[in-house]
Amino acid sequence: TIQQPSRAAKRSTKEWQQADAAHFLHPFTDFAALAKKGSRIITDANNIYLHDSDGNKILDAMSGLWCVNVGYGQKALVDAAARQMQELPFYNAFFQTATPPSIELAELLAEVTPPQFQHVFFTSSGSEGNDTIVRMVRRYWDVLGQPERQVIIGRHNGYHGSTMAGASLGGMSGMHAQGGLPIPNITHIEQPHWFELGGDQSREDFGLTAARWLEEKILAVGPERVAAFIGEPIQGAGGVIVPPTTYWPEIQRICDKYGILLVSDEVICGFGRTGEWFGCETVGSRPDLMTFAKGVTSGYIPLGGVMVGERIAKVLIEQGGEFNHGFTYSGHPVACAVALANIGLIRQLNLVSHVKHNVGPYLAQQFAELAEHPLVGETQTCGLMGAVQLVKDKAKRQMFDSALEVGMVCRGHCFGNGLIMRAVGDRMIIAPPLVITRPQVDEMMALIRRCLDLTLADVQARGWL
Ligand code: PMP
Repeated sequence: TIQQPSRAAKRSTKEWQQADAAHFLHPFTDFAALAKKGSRIITDANNIYLHDSDGNKILDAMSGLWCVNVGYGQKALVDAAARQMQELPFYNAFFQTATPPSIELAELLAEVTPPQFQHVFFTSSGSEGNDTIVRMVRRYWDVLGQPERQVIIGRHNGYHGSTMAGASLGGMSGMHAQGGLPIPNITHIEQPHWFELGGDQSREDFGLTAARWLEEKILAVGPERVAAFIGEPIQGAGGVIVPPTTYWPEIQRICDKYGILLVSDEVICGFGRTGEWFGCETVGSRPDLMTFAKGVTSGYIPLGGVMVGERIAKVLIEQGGEFNHGFTYSGHPVACAVALANIGLIRQLNLVSHVKHNVGPYLAQQFAELAEHPLVGETQTCGLMGAVQLVKDKAKRQMFDSALEVGMVCRGHCFGNGLIMRAVGDRMIIAPPLVITRPQVDEMMALIRRCLDLTLADVQARGWL
């Protein structure tokens, strides 16, 4: 790994914050509130630790934004970018041209993804990948002479990005409310979230119930109008919701029954996060398309794309004619060179097996013990994703009033104690870098415990319990 001298010394924290508030509109942010409070300025990072401009060391239990799978400071990725920038910083793939890194990455992705995937369409982000999905599945059915198959079914509280199509496929009501979404012919079913929706059903029975909501929706829309179903194997931004094991096999059965394309959004679950290369392998589905981003380069440089299954690739290649879609940076040589180095490193460090056989089971055991904490209603993990559901009453599965924002109280304690853990409502979530070791899991768990205790004391002091 590399050690970089910090550039923070250039300006004081206050000066960074003032310039930030004056000019930088942050994503998913209340601009006025942030300007008042001031951003935290992250200056450098190594392994699983970030440093801020005040000299604090912070354990990054979110891998940046679910992306820094190989951890920070990996020299192999930096060198790959530098080499490629010198050799050829850019060339496009529009003019019947390609570059060696983009071809090699396409080849390597065909190797590490499930066997039905032999072709890739590159983008620069997960959102662009999902936009590509919308256009590609509609194009597929059109070429097959079924242009009426337009409808794509997603899920409430699913997340598929922030472009018009990505936000439409997703089921975040706050996003739909801004900008007149969803776009036409996208509809949603309820999520497989047992803790909130399972009632008296066992997890397994509820998994089947939740999957059958898809069949009900297909029948309501009319099977001849449905193009595809899209879901994250494990919902990430929705709160690390691990579905019952019965869910995905039943979803697969239903898609097969009606001939509907199955899209697995692997933007978070891909590249080892769940203990297999891809989340679909963990949950037991056979998708026709997969969206990827984030972990493909460990976030060192933007890259995303769509793995296109042979069922679709064959039709588009043999009968399709021109597909009128693409981006300037589709197959960007520097991004692809970094991805090659990143996937090489994941292999060299055996990170997928490290998650599956070592730190994943260890994290699961530690999280299971957390469930004894008075504030914790349930914990879930899958590989190196984990959720801690904060509740008012464990036995009754009773939540706090959402207006109290107990999750944000907990997140405040985390940020104050050198831990980045995210709050989705009252669900505290983690997805640490895959290079995390057992002693580092211990260190993370000690911080999580401390923050839960501080939150409990806080909640009691405010009279919310
Ligand atoms: N799909 C999923 C499952 C995601 O988690 C995300 C980002 N968190 C996206 C798509 C969008 O990716 P991006 O932010 O790179 O556009």
